[in-house]
Amino acid sequence: MEMLTYKDTRNYAPIDVTKGMDLLTREIVMADTQAPEGYEIMPKCKFCKNFKETDTFIGTCEASMNEPRFIAYPDMTAVTCEMYETM
Ligand code: SF4
Repeated sequence: MEMLTYKDTRNYAPIDVTKGMDLLTREIVMADTQAPEGYEIMPKCKFCKNFKETDTFIGTCEASMNEPRFIAYPDMTAVTCEMYETM
């Protein structure tokens, strides 16, 4: 897997859309910068085996029981999704 950005890890708490706190170092960091190696991945639709990208920044959840499948956003946090499957 490619390196994670801070916003894609569990070791990051957002302050606003661009920055947040590194929860291990307590430093303010930019959301889109690369997180140090070993930081824990945040479950998100884009990291789920059931996510199918249909266009830029949008997709569907293939685990959806509905027809058509419901829309999923790649950056949607999935910590409570019971159907989340790691790739
Ligand atoms: S199963 Fe959950 S995490 Fe996976 S794509 Fe569907 S909604 Fe997102």
